[in-house]
Amino acid sequence: MTNRLVLQTMDDPGTHPVQISPRQSCGDSNLWIVAGPCAVESLAQLEQITQTLLQHGVTSLRGGAFKPRTSPYSFQGLEEKGLQLLHQMRQQHYMTVITEVMAIEQIDLVAAHADVLQVGSRNMQNFALLKALGKIEKPILLKRGLAATLDELLWAAEYILSEGNERVILCERGIRSFDPETRNVLDLGGVAVLKRQTHLPVIVDPSHAAGRRDIITDLSKAAIAVGADGLIIEIHPNPQKSVSDANQALSLEDFSDWMEEIAPIAQAMGRSLQSEAHLVA
Ligand code: PEP
Ligand code: MN
Repeated sequence: MTNRLVLQTMDDPGTHPVQISPRQSCGDSNLWIVAGPCAVESLAQLEQITQTLLQHGVTSLRGGAFKPRTSPYSFQGLEEKGLQLLHQMRQQHYMTVITEVMAIEQIDLVAAHADVLQVGSRNMQNFALLKALGKIEKPILLKRGLAATLDELLWAAEYILSEGNERVILCERGIRSFDPETRNVLDLGGVAVLKRQTHLPVIVDPSHAAGRRDIITDLSKAAIAVGADGLIIEIHPNPQKSVSDANQALSLEDFSDWMEEIAPIAQAMGRSLQSEAHLVA
């Protein structure tokens, strides 16, 4: 059997940082912070969010343009228009944009508008998509499937690496369990295990794990403490009006508090929060 590319080796333990943009990487002493709406809704929404992020030195913006919804009757995303709005944030504010790609046919379009292509939980084992993403020159954020084992996540990442794209970042976003109090169960033990097994950076999405905004900060602190290389969270100027995942979005005021609350934990773990990207830009 050939060696698994995603695994750490004895002579080279630890994390290999992944370059996200010319000025930013994930997996080093800087904690990678990504925030934004579940779905891109309007220019005004992205502008407001971007301004808040920049006030905190956060330069990575998430937002879904192609949305994988449980019901085909739910809002499916602004699609190409959403990508254009995200791209506008890149051009006008030098934001690093992270957005989901759901199908092979969308890869070129999404890659033309975004810095990091996200593979959502529901597509973690879409092997044809993973192989195709292995052939492009953009970093991939690979989210753990709702009921995938850690080993299955690592094999999914292997599909991308084996095709030549080594820039993969893993994301723990909660796994299905029996208790409806939270949408999913955030597997922080899994993060600790991954950090020992793979050299790929591992970030945590407490928003989709929790499904409720009141515990996002607690989960975020725990994720940093367990060794996560970054956090991706959902925020919205008016969370109640969010077209998707309204219950888990933080308001912009909440986001400021969140940044303040996680800062001492990051510091205790030897991680800085300040991105330099906006200073250069
Ligand atoms: C998302 O990040 O927008 C998303 C749909 O997440 P997940 O694939 O983890 O459910
Ligand atoms: Mn969402």
